[in-house]
Amino acid sequence: MSVRVRFAPSPTGKLHVGSARTALFNWLFAKHERGAFILRIEDTDQKRSNPAFLEDIYASLTFLGIHADEGPYFQSQRMPLYQAHAERLLSAGRAARKEKAVVFEVTPRPVTFNDVLRGDITVDTTLFETLVLMKSDGTPTYNFACVVDDALMKVSHVIRGDDHIANTPKQVVLYEALGFPIPIFCHIPLIVGADRARLSKRQGATSVEEYRQVGYLPEAFVNYLALLGWSPGGNREMVPPQELIELFELSKVRKTAAFFDLRKLDWLNGQYLKQTPVPKLSGLLAERLMAKGWLPADYDRAWLEQLTALIRDRIKVLEDVEEQHAFFFQEPPQYQPEAVDQFLRQNGTLQHLQALRERLSHLKAFDAASVEEATRAYAAEQGLDAKALIHPVRVAVTGRAVSPPLFGCMAVLGRDKVLSRLAHAAELAKP
Ligand code: GLU
Repeated sequence: MSVRVRFAPSPTGKLHVGSARTALFNWLFAKHERGAFILRIEDTDQKRSNPAFLEDIYASLTFLGIHADEGPYFQSQRMPLYQAHAERLLSAGRAARKEKAVVFEVTPRPVTFNDVLRGDITVDTTLFETLVLMKSDGTPTYNFACVVDDALMKVSHVIRGDDHIANTPKQVVLYEALGFPIPIFCHIPLIVGADRARLSKRQGATSVEEYRQVGYLPEAFVNYLALLGWSPGGNREMVPPQELIELFELSKVRKTAAFFDLRKLDWLNGQYLKQTPVPKLSGLLAERLMAKGWLPADYDRAWLEQLTALIRDRIKVLEDVEEQHAFFFQEPPQYQPEAVDQFLRQNGTLQHLQALRERLSHLKAFDAASVEEATRAYAAEQGLDAKALIHPVRVAVTGRAVSPPLFGCMAVLGRDKVLSRLAHAAELAKP
C-alpha cells in the first residue's frame, strides 16, 4: 500500500505551532515512506476563513521547508462531491433530510478503530446518536467532508492532533456507511506550555510566523518541532531535516503531551547559528537590518561578514543583532545609564579616555590586534590594570557593560566612530 497522508488546516488563524508539528510529522512520515503529502484547505466555513490566514499557512509551510506533493485542494471547491455522497446515503435510506439538513442516524453498537500509538480503540456509538452530514446552508460538516475527502484522496494514514480523537469513531461509522476503506489513524498528543495547559497566547508566541520573525532558523525550528514528542534515540538533540526524514518513525511518537521548552529551542537555534557559514548568516542578518533601515541596500559585505563572525557565537536568534548589537548601527550608541555610572564616572576615566583617543588617532592600522596592543601599552605605562581601562572603553564605544570582544568591536566600528565615541563618552564622564 502506498503511503498517502494529508495536512488539512482551516484558514481561520495563523499557523499554530501545534498544527505545524502535525504538518511536520505527516511530511516526515511521507518522505520516509516515499509516499505523498497532500495539502487540503478546509475552508467550508466561509465566514471564518480568511485569505490572509491562507497566505500565512503557505508562508509558514514554505519557511519550514514543507512542500506538498499534491494540492492544495480546497473543500470550498468540492461542494458537489459532498452533495453527491450525501445523496447516495439518502437514496440508500441511510440518511434522512431534516428540514434543509441531511442527518445520519447511528445504530447503537461498538465501533473499533486502530490508532498507531494507542492500539485498538472501541467506542460505543450511543455516545453520539445523530450525525449531521450537510448543514441547512448546504455546506458539509467537518466529519462528513473529511471522510469523503480522505477516502477520495486515498489517504492511507490520518495523522492529526489528539483533540480530534472524539471525531474518529464518528468518521469510522461514515466510512462504513459509504463503503470506503478505513485508513490507519495516528492521533498525536498536544503541545503544552510551561503551565501544562495547551500552548496558548498567554505563554508567548504560538504561531510559526512569530518564531520566524524573531529569527529562528528553519532547520533549527524544524529540528525542535520534530523532537517535540518524538526522539531518534541515543539522546540526540541536533538532527538536521534530511536525517529527520531518514530516522522518523511514527510508532515512536510519545503518547504523552509534549512540553514546549523555549530555552531548549533557543539553545538549539544557537547551535545551528554557530554552524551557519558566515557569508550565509551575514545575508540573513542583512535582510533584517535593511528592513529596519539600519543598513543601506549597497552595504559593505566584507564589513558585515566581519561583524557577523564577531557575534555569531553570541546570538541565540537573529533578532539579537538588533537587541544586543544595535551599537554597531547607531551613532552615538545608546548608553546604558547604569554602565555609564559604574564605569565612566570614575576618577581619572575622563583623562584616560582622552589620552587613549589621542593614541588611537595615530595608529597606522586599525585592526583588532593593533588596537589591543596600543590600549594595553597605554594601561601599562599608566600603571593601570588593563581591565580597569577596558571596562570604561567598552562602555564608551558600545554603550554597554557587556559586548562581544572589545578590540574586535573597535576594529569593526573603525577608527572614525571609535574616536568620536571616545570623545562623546569623555563628555559623559565629566562630573
Ligand atoms: N481542519 C481540521 C483542523 O484543522 C482538520 C482535522 C483533521 O486533520 O482531520 O483541525
